Amino acid sequence: MADVDATHGTGTPPVDALRAAESAGTPAGQAAFDDQNKPAFDDQNRPSADLVSDCVHCGFCLTTCPTYTLWGEEMDSPRGRIHLIGQGLSGEPLSDSMVGHFDNCLGCMACVTACPSGVQYDRLIEDTRAQVERRHERTGRDRALRAAIFALFPYPRRLRLLRGPLWAYQRSGLQRLVGRAGVLERVAPRLATLESLAPRLMRKVPKPPRRVAARGDRRAVVGMLTGCVQSAFFPEVNAATVRVLAAEGCDVLIPSGQGCCGALSVHNGRRAEAQRFARKLIATFERTGMDYFVVNAAGCGSSLKEYGELLADDPAYAARAAAFAAKVRDLAELLVELGPVAERHPLQVTAAYHDACHLGHAQGVRAQPRALLRGIPGLEVREIADPEICCGSAGVWNVLNPVPAAELGDRKASAVAATGAALLVTANPGCLMQVAAALRRRGGSIAMAHTVQVLDASIRGLPVSALL
Ligand code: SF4
Ligand code: SF4
Repeated sequence: MADVDATHGTGTPPVDALRAAESAGTPAGQAAFDDQNKPAFDDQNRPSADLVSDCVHCGFCLTTCPTYTLWGEEMDSPRGRIHLIGQGLSGEPLSDSMVGHFDNCLGCMACVTACPSGVQYDRLIEDTRAQVERRHERTGRDRALRAAIFALFPYPRRLRLLRGPLWAYQRSGLQRLVGRAGVLERVAPRLATLESLAPRLMRKVPKPPRRVAARGDRRAVVGMLTGCVQSAFFPEVNAATVRVLAAEGCDVLIPSGQGCCGALSVHNGRRAEAQRFARKLIATFERTGMDYFVVNAAGCGSSLKEYGELLADDPAYAARAAAFAAKVRDLAELLVELGPVAERHPLQVTAAYHDACHLGHAQGVRAQPRALLRGIPGLEVREIADPEICCGSAGVWNVLNPVPAAELGDRKASAVAATGAALLVTANPGCLMQVAAALRRRGGSIAMAHTVQVLDASIRGLPVSALL
């Protein structure tokens, strides 16, 4: 097994930092030395040594790992990262190099799907990330970037405030001008990444109603997550979700002020923040009398299903969180569970279906969206090559790592284009933005839709042009 020094310039090698601290010969230097020397992990949600020992080093996961595919580095593979976690558990300090390899992980969970030994890498990396966030001193620049991201993305109201200026920027021609001059890429590459990802916005966002009644006989009462990015940038997906649920016999409850589910925070090691969001969401919905809690964004769904673990140590919330999590369903999962009642009208279109990692790998929901699409007369589902490899979106990974994210996006865009489909369908706002940006870079484009928008068009009898 290679040593921990294999890195992509992700930081000062620990040994150099130690030398610098030593040569400083000051109390501060000594403090830095001590800090660098402390064991990687403390006892608060320590990654499990038993889970590490489940890995038999077979390497079946390597080819599904996007970072290993990009760089061919053992320490940027699932097996390598598990080895590093093992080193941390044996008392090694949390070096910059080690943190770099953990940070490089997209959290796509392709390795969990691929692993024949059932290694729970998802739990290992989540616990590791929380330790990194608490115990590792990031550079000032990295701290500032992360602080900005987490002051914005988990707050739907703040995101919605961005809509007006962004809409004006897109419609005024300024965006085209800035794009042509390439100014933003040179001055602020991460901002350029964000700008390139933003979908083309509609002027107004209608507020969702608090309650929508089922059409016909009521079959279920469903609480609905409106989400952060989904509600700010894809309100039409939420609107389609409400219509389809109602058409399929569901009363839909949409309390205002529900906030973030905490997915972004928990996936980035900000456990305490994620727990705060989770408590608020549970308190908002638990007295509504809902049968199910439905989610139309893959990343959110996978975290919501794990609320029981997230709040297991909170005596006031442990049981409530587990009860809440048991009601969580991805939208496609729920619609298949209920079975169709609304008539499907034909849509003559070829659609490539993209498995969002947090739907396919993290939740195992692959058959249901395809079944829903195949249930539409005239619609042909086409498969995308290498479906297990992430598109590079991965929450905010593409903002933190714009260069490799663009490379993964370009690979996915090529695979999508090769299907020859007229429409790309997926169930995660991040994937939609990432693949759309990559297709634009190729000078092409493809119509895109969330699975529920296709269903909605079919149920309402809209012409296929409404999707293209
Ligand atoms: S979660 Fe994805 S990026 Fe991370 S190790 Fe597993 S396959 Fe690789
Ligand atoms: S497939 Fe599983 S057991 Fe094999 S190396 Fe990867 S994580 Fe370890």
